[in-house]
Order: sequence, then C-alpha cells, then structure tokens
Amino acid sequence: SAAPLGSSVIPIVNKLQDIFAQLGSQSTIELPQVAVVGSQSSGKSSVLEALVGRDFLPRGSDICTRRPLVLQLLQTKRKPDGSEEEYGEFLHLPGKRFYDFSEIRREIQAETDREAGGNKGVSDKQIRLKIFSPNVLDITLVDLPGITKVPVGDQPSDIEARIRTMIMSYIKQPSCLILAVTPANSDLANSDALQIAGNADPDGYRTIGVITKLDIMDRGTDARNLLLGKVIPLRLGYIGVVNRSQEDILMNRSIKDALVAEEKFFRSRPVYNGLADRCGVPQLAKKLNQILVQHIKAILPGLKSRISSTLVSVAKEHASYGEITESKAGQGALLLNILSKYCEAFSSMVEGKNEEMSTS
Ligand code: GDP
Ligand code: MG
Repeated sequence: SAAPLGSSVIPIVNKLQDIFAQLGSQSTIELPQVAVVGSQSSGKSSVLEALVGRDFLPRGSDICTRRPLVLQLLQTKRKPDGSEEEYGEFLHLPGKRFYDFSEIRREIQAETDREAGGNKGVSDKQIRLKIFSPNVLDITLVDLPGITKVPVGDQPSDIEARIRTMIMSYIKQPSCLILAVTPANSDLANSDALQIAGNADPDGYRTIGVITKLDIMDRGTDARNLLLGKVIPLRLGYIGVVNRSQEDILMNRSIKDALVAEEKFFRSRPVYNGLADRCGVPQLAKKLNQILVQHIKAILPGLKSRISSTLVSVAKEHASYGEITESKAGQGALLLNILSKYCEAFSSMVEGKNEEMSTS
C-alpha cells in the first residue's frame, strides 16, 4: 500500500491521546511541522501530495504555488458503520466541507488568484486548509512557493528576496522539519533547496534531502552518488523519488498508479540496487515517521510528568470533596489503568524502533 505519512506513528499518538483523555485533559502532543522548500517546479507540491496520498494540490510546469498553503491533517473517528469520511475545510470558507478533492484544488487556485491576482503574483498571506480523515496523523504540512530569480507577470523586481524571506519565516522555526527538494536533472551544488535549508538549519538536524525527477535525468547519468550523500553530505540523508510528469498530470494519472510506476522504476534499474531504503515516496514517509517517533520519545518524559502531576491534582480535588474512602479504590484503579496504558504505549514505540532497525 501507499504507506502514507504517519502510518506507524498514529497508533502511538492515539494511545497517548487516550491516556490524556482519561485524565480529562487535552493532550498537547505537538508534532513538528513539515515544510517543503526548493526552486520553482522542483516537485515540492508533488512530493507533499504523494505523502498525503491524495490529489488536491495545484501542480504544474509553471508557477502554481503562489501563497503558502498550511495544511493541517486532523484525525477523525471512523463512523460507527466502519465507513470512512474524508473532507477538507478552508479557514476562509468556514463550515463548507469539500468531499471532492479536485474541488479543493480548484478552490486553492481560486483563492490564490483572489489574493495574489491572476498574473503570477506571489503573496505571503497563508491559505489554511484542514483535511479531516480517519487515516491521518495530526500534523501540519506547509507547501511553499518555490524560489524564482527572474520576475514574470505581476511579480516585483525583488521577487527572489521576497520569496526567500517568506520561506525562512517558516523553516527557521526550530520545530520545523525541512524537506529540501532538488530535481535530479539539475546540479546539486546549485540547489536552492539545500542552500536555504542550510541557512535555517546549519547543522542539518532537521533537513531531509529529497531528489525528484530521477526518471528524466540526462542519459548516462544516475543519482546513486547523490543518494549516497557523496556529492553533498546531509546528516539525515537523501531520498530519491519519481513523481508524476506533466503528461501524467494532463492525463489524470492517479496517485496509486504513480506509486506503482515509481516502484517499478527503481526495481528495473540496477544502479539503484542496494539503495532500497533511499528510494521512493514510501521510504520518505518511513523516514519522516522515524523522525516523528524520535520526537515523541524525546517529549515523553515531559508527558509522563504531566500525567503524574495531573493525577496528583485529581487526587487532591477528590480529597477536598471528602470522598476519601470511597474514591481511594477508584483512584488506584484509574492510576493502574493509566500507567499500564502508558507502558503499553511506550513498549509499542520501542517495538516500532526495533522493527525499523531490523529492516535496515
Ligand atoms: P513545485 O513547483 O516545486 O511545487 O513543483 P510541482 O510539484 O508543481 O511540479 C512541477 C512539474 O514537475 C510538474 O509538471 C510535475 O509533473 C513535474 N514533476 C515533479 N516531479 C517529477 C518527477 O519526479 N518526474 C517527472 N518526470 N516530473 C516531475
Ligand atoms: Mg508547488
């Protein structure tokens, strides 16, 4: 299957969320944002779309993403009959549910034009879209306009500086994971993505290199050394992907077909033998999942002490009502229940880690 973003993290987060719900408090497991950066038409929107596993972003050979799109994925409960309901809702159209994802794309385009005009203008005013689905993790993804050098249409002469400032305002936040997207048919040493990511994250702790367009490299060249980090090393490494081409877009090729084609591409090219963990959108999702699990592990001690202090204050409150004898048994049971869930959540996280280790 498509192994979309979050598949291995959702159960962990849900368990932790359950624990907080039992304590009557809202969970505040804040996952990092993920933003895509790179030159125009490097494939940023295509990569995000593939990670979400749905077709809804404007993509194309011209400038498409002209305003930051802040995409909040929100997990909903499956309906009692087991059916799934997925829909989008824009901040600028409250209450209007979009069940048709191609309509979401049209609305992004229309709303882009409303603010940035119809003639290639760029605006730093966000479009905010929530996607509700039982199959997603609560995480925020940001699709950003690409870096361009030469003003076209209604763009001001300082368009490059403006876009860079806009991108930096997102990726300089220490909690932002950066997908630095560079097409394989351009020189990595000229990569706008790596350059701007390097400014925001000089030590490379939160930058993943994504190499797109492996299918349209110059004949006789391949991306093996890029993916191995031999050209420009990157602490978190690189993943190579093959997204849909412009022709695929015009022919309405589905995301599912594209994933099958991508898999076939890598399987049929001996030069990528032995690099399976660096090739394909599912591997990118897996890498992001691993980083999210690490993040949860890092914030776990803090969550644990929050659980303990909430327990203490619940106990105090009960005591102040004078329910001492009656509630003691209940308190103990609650505490036990919570702690066992906590241990369960923790051990499944560790198992998840082991599973990742054994496959690599
Ligand atoms: P963005 O401007 O960085 O968001 O790039 P888009 O995702 O809009 O893609 C720009 C163009 O490149 C579109 O025509 C895509 O179809 C095409 N494209 C993106 N990734 C790939 C790829 O891996 N292979 C091929 N052949 N085309 C791609
Ligand atoms: Mg785009």
